[in-house]
Amino acid sequence: MFTIAIDGPAGVGKTTTSKTLARLLGWGYLDTGAMYRAVAVGCLQAGIDDEQGIAQFCREMDVEISTDPDNPRICLDGIDITQAIRDPQTSAWVSKVSTNPGCRENLVQRQQEIIASKNLVAEGRDITTVVATDAQVRVLLTADPAERLSRRGAELGDQVSSEELHDQVIRRDRDDSTLVNFSQAADGVVTIDSTWMDLDDVVAEILGLAFEAGIDIGAIELESS
Ligand code: C5P
Repeated sequence: MFTIAIDGPAGVGKTTTSKTLARLLGWGYLDTGAMYRAVAVGCLQAGIDDEQGIAQFCREMDVEISTDPDNPRICLDGIDITQAIRDPQTSAWVSKVSTNPGCRENLVQRQQEIIASKNLVAEGRDITTVVATDAQVRVLLTADPAERLSRRGAELGDQVSSEELHDQVIRRDRDDSTLVNFSQAADGVVTIDSTWMDLDDVVAEILGLAFEAGIDIGAIELESS
């Protein structure tokens, strides 16, 4: 199986980039952040907020995630929570899940099983360094904080306050940087600073890396010419 692994901080454009690549290659798309968010939704609903309880909930839950880049749905214990994982309350709470070691261990294992089953573009925070260290392409996507705030703001529209936006990008970066080193790529991981790049440039650069890694991208060149 082939894997393109993309890590990076909030608001950098991982999702748009990963879905575009998946569509072009005809591969699946795995949003690992959605799995952390699913645990947060489940624990919030069940009123679980202690470390052991969160880890146990994670081990016992049934989570099904679609890898279709055009229909990214997620179900928890049979209930569709695709909308609920994007609630501001979930975003505000998710670092309680991602800093839980038992939960991380469980989710990493689930993600590795999905990655072993098909060709995928997988995005997250630890895909290049923990989940898929043998991926053919490993990228750390970065951009300046001001640019990421502006990208996330454009995505969320007017309904979001500047406090909420700050919480969703800067505060989450601060929490997530206890888990991942965003400022320096691990050995073998290529950093792409997208501050001054548009989506097409980023996608083209990653396709170039895929080509160098021996992945057949011939059909894409035909499509775009
Ligand atoms: O990617 P997204 O912003 O939806 O991820 C939500 C949260 O899940 C992140 O802020 C981070 O705390 C956590 N996460 C993680 N490891 C991943 C993906 C996401 O810890 N591979």
